[in-house]
Amino acid sequence: MPEAAATPPPAPKSAPQKAMEKLGLLRDIDLALHLPLRYEDETRITPIAALREGEPVQVEGVVIDCQVELRSRRQLLVRVKDDSGTLLLRFLHFYPSQQKQMSAAARLRIRGEARVGFFGREMVHPVVKVVDEDTPLAQALTPVYPASAQLPQAYLRKAVASGLARADLRELLPAGVVPRGLPSLKDALQYLHHPPPSASQQALHDHSHPAWQRLKFEELLAQQLSQLQAQRERALLVAPALKAKPGGLHEGLLAALPFQLTTAQARVAEEIAQDLARPQPTHRLLQGDVGSGKTVVAALAAAVAIDAGWQCALMAPTEILAEQHFRKLVQWLEPLGLQVAWLTGSVKGKTRQKMLDAAASGEAQLVIGTHAVIEDKVKFARLGLAVIDEQHRFGVAQRLALRNKLKSMALEPHLLMMSATPIPRTLAMTYFADLDVSTIDELPPGRSPIVTKVFTESKRHDVVDKIRMAVADGAQVYWVCPLVEESEAVDLRNATETHAELSAELPGARVGLLHGRMSPADKAAVMAQFSSGAMSVLVATTVIEVGVDVPNASLMVIEHAERFGLAQLHQLRGRVGRGSVASVCVLIYSPPLSDTGKARLKAMAETTDGFEIARRDLNIRGPGEFMGSRQSGAELLRFADLQEDAPLLVAARALAPELLDRHPAAAAAQVRRWLGTKAEYLKA
Ligand code: ADP
Ligand code: MG
Repeated sequence: MPEAAATPPPAPKSAPQKAMEKLGLLRDIDLALHLPLRYEDETRITPIAALREGEPVQVEGVVIDCQVELRSRRQLLVRVKDDSGTLLLRFLHFYPSQQKQMSAAARLRIRGEARVGFFGREMVHPVVKVVDEDTPLAQALTPVYPASAQLPQAYLRKAVASGLARADLRELLPAGVVPRGLPSLKDALQYLHHPPPSASQQALHDHSHPAWQRLKFEELLAQQLSQLQAQRERALLVAPALKAKPGGLHEGLLAALPFQLTTAQARVAEEIAQDLARPQPTHRLLQGDVGSGKTVVAALAAAVAIDAGWQCALMAPTEILAEQHFRKLVQWLEPLGLQVAWLTGSVKGKTRQKMLDAAASGEAQLVIGTHAVIEDKVKFARLGLAVIDEQHRFGVAQRLALRNKLKSMALEPHLLMMSATPIPRTLAMTYFADLDVSTIDELPPGRSPIVTKVFTESKRHDVVDKIRMAVADGAQVYWVCPLVEESEAVDLRNATETHAELSAELPGARVGLLHGRMSPADKAAVMAQFSSGAMSVLVATTVIEVGVDVPNASLMVIEHAERFGLAQLHQLRGRVGRGSVASVCVLIYSPPLSDTGKARLKAMAETTDGFEIARRDLNIRGPGEFMGSRQSGAELLRFADLQEDAPLLVAARALAPELLDRHPAAAAAQVRRWLGTKAEYLKA
């Protein structure tokens, strides 16, 4: 028998303790920063005669009657009285103990909302407390915290109060740097947890109160400091200086392109070339609307790196997109004598080993694939440039993995990220403060605008009729369904069913199916048939959302359009309108539409401009959700609102360099207090 352990096992955690952990309330500072959702005012008594309909108040009165009435339904009626009038309390559900308690009580303090009816003032199910004449009133507003079923409000109140008392809230910032009129962090938190009776509930509610402002400023400052720190660390790193060779691949590619670069493409390509020529690692985001032609700009950057004798890795978030890049770049670059390797999760066995060897030996000058390209086993001989397409689609963990991978290189490679989702200015100043941004603000010429139409589900037949005619005329169509094989409970047409239906409704047309659960080989085969024009209708889930490029496709139908986000709808729509054929996007929705659903479809119908879409999306959703919180790290901002708090952001941004230079210890403590381990994520 093994000996019994010397220390007893830890006491099992209570349900509220577990619930607190789930809410992330672990450290004292976490508790101190767990702010009330709202407040109850138990600091004053309202005279009964002054009660107004629907206003939450506290009253106090003597009990003049307490009885159970049986007439229409069993209920407990309690009548109380103060100097100004009487109030009826009505309980439809009650315990005998409550009845006993109230009939024995002389005086009650009551919180609730009054109804003023035919029989006078009454409250239904108020909160009551037995008091006597000199029971004191609360000194501060009573906080109501975000809680859960396992976490009673009273328990949480106690926990927060003691966390607040214990937390280290020392002032970290030197005197005079905090914007004028803002209290210390300690005072701010004290105020927000226990506001005095005179506090403006409005200012607390809309977060305009100076105590709130201080909190937001602190948070934004920590975020700015961590970004600046990352930027400075990067500036110390050394990267190979990459320059195109005269008469080399870069010139060759430019000459061989079947089109002229747009002015915007030429400008951003030049910005990138200048970055690459410097011995510090490039950290640039290339943003441009769907279809603006980012791929060729990436290819040109790759050509510069390869000309200079280095390797380039190009990563895309999905196999379909990676494959498409592979085809396009092979088509452009192999005639110029380039070796391109292809690496995704589904490349296996000998082929995979061959690719790995080619990357490790440096024989493959360009490696294209999914995030498989940055897995541990993949080694590069001389990686000079990494390009990440649709970077916001990569998760934070993947971006961190990439960063760590790049770190292990002898010389730091340059990093170019691409995205079709434009970043609003305030976001660029915060999460992407450590990033240079180039923007393609023009589409290639000859594109005909996409017309967007919105129909309810009941018009689906008419849409199918139109498609039948268009297909007969040689058009190619995407038909997008939101989900495949969802639980029966969710009333969505799944893609498989839609595929069967459309195949029956469009006799003679080739209707294909593409969804996330197919094998990569099957997906590739379907895409190839659609690309070549052999297939006219492609029923697909959102796997086609990102970057798919079939210029001949001119019609898109999106079913259950109300279920998609605005950015996603715009991305999807970007799959058509890529050629010279006039394109149409049909959005089918099932009523009733929510207000935001309405606003999204309206935005889609009114504009095709990605920047305008982004602006509206920001208005509809708010910046917290803008980039999709999972990807952006935007959920890391708990208190500040990038749109509303732009002035605080500007102040924090201005302060960060000085603080980092002159008070490095305070700066580090500030980042630790606010971001803890999250600081790493902000650099991803
Ligand atoms: P995105 O920016 O969405 O990634 P792509 O790089 O896929 O856009 O380009 C969209 C389409 O436009 C592709 O078919 C591409 O070959 C074509 N294209 C890119 N640049 C130009 C240009 N300057 N003139 C004409 N067509 C172009
Ligand atoms: Mg693209």
